[in-house]
Amino acid sequence: MKVRHTKVRKYGKSTHYCRRCGQYGAVIRAYDLLYCRQCFREVAGKLGFKKYD
Ligand SMILES: [Zn+2]
Repeated sequence: MKVRHTKVRKYGKSTHYCRRCGQYGAVIRAYDLLYCRQCFREVAGKLGFKKYD
């Protein structure tokens, strides 16, 4: 079975970067937000989400 270099994942490291602070890592793609966990918490608050972790 071949291993393909799949860059598209639901979750994973360095697949995306936070579009708010530019940080690579645990970027949350939920709701097409593309924010890191830190920014997500801040932005989510503004968007009306409550703590989501
Ligand atoms: Zn961020």
